Amino acid sequence: MTDFASILGSLPAAIAPYQGKGKQADYIPALAEIPSDKFGMAISTVDGRDYVIGDAEEGFSIQSISKLFTLSLAMHYAGERVFKRVGVEPSGNPFNSLSQLESENGIPRNPFINAGALVIADVLLGHLGSPKQDFLDYMRALSGNLDLQYDEQVFRSEYDTGHRNAALAHYLYSFGNIKHPIAQVLDFYFYQCSLNMSCLDLARASRFLAMEGQHPFRDERVVSPLQARRINTLMMTCGTYDEAGEFAFHVGLPCKSGVGGGIVATVPGKMSICVWSPELGKKGNSLPGMQALKTFVEKTGLAVF
Ligand code: GLU
Repeated sequence: MTDFASILGSLPAAIAPYQGKGKQADYIPALAEIPSDKFGMAISTVDGRDYVIGDAEEGFSIQSISKLFTLSLAMHYAGERVFKRVGVEPSGNPFNSLSQLESENGIPRNPFINAGALVIADVLLGHLGSPKQDFLDYMRALSGNLDLQYDEQVFRSEYDTGHRNAALAHYLYSFGNIKHPIAQVLDFYFYQCSLNMSCLDLARASRFLAMEGQHPFRDERVVSPLQARRINTLMMTCGTYDEAGEFAFHVGLPCKSGVGGGIVATVPGKMSICVWSPELGKKGNSLPGMQALKTFVEKTGLAVF
């Protein structure tokens, strides 16, 4: 049997050459204050075993990793209709780009770029009675951590500096692809991004993607097996900004990253993984985090291809 504990134990040495080479996100000022040398990783297997290393139980800002969970919830409620309003193609452009929206009539390329996530937030506003509380409850149930909270300071910081997201929301609204008041959509979007979770919380919460949509702690489905497969596919093709090709090539697992330095990865049928280290490379993915995943896959052979 693979000795996951000792493989995890070997990662700090493997990532050491990559530390000090990236930079925390600073366009959201609150994120720039996080110590850059943090590193944690957690694995949660489909049979319920957890393995952790380093700062795996310390909370961080999940940022765009939230897009994975809002998409799952939107697919749960609206099924295939979601894909009338967002596409499924990689964008090849930065996550906050406005440029493709004009030629594509306000249909964002995919649900993981900001424009797509704003549309997904709008979809959810049509289904949730108390959107922020309902989303928090959903994440608490998925992670099994009833103490999860959002980070007020990060939320405010995003609000104060989120001009590009506001521009995207207005632009989408002009195409009729945002239907609720823009202030509500942005409020919900900034809230989802400012959720504070640890690697262990996120590895547990994303386990349904390795379990054909089965809820990790309840006898119910989060999404159908087909939907779980589709979400994993979107993670593989679009989950790591305009670096998804590099991730597929070097890591070979469906991944979703965030500018807080977290990356969630799934090994369908086996486990979910979350790694966190705040220093980002040029494309916005955690540099040590990517290296940790690459090393983990090399040592375990657990890539999907
Ligand atoms: N809240 C961030 C933004 O909208 C999320 C960015 C990310 O993690 O990709 O800019």
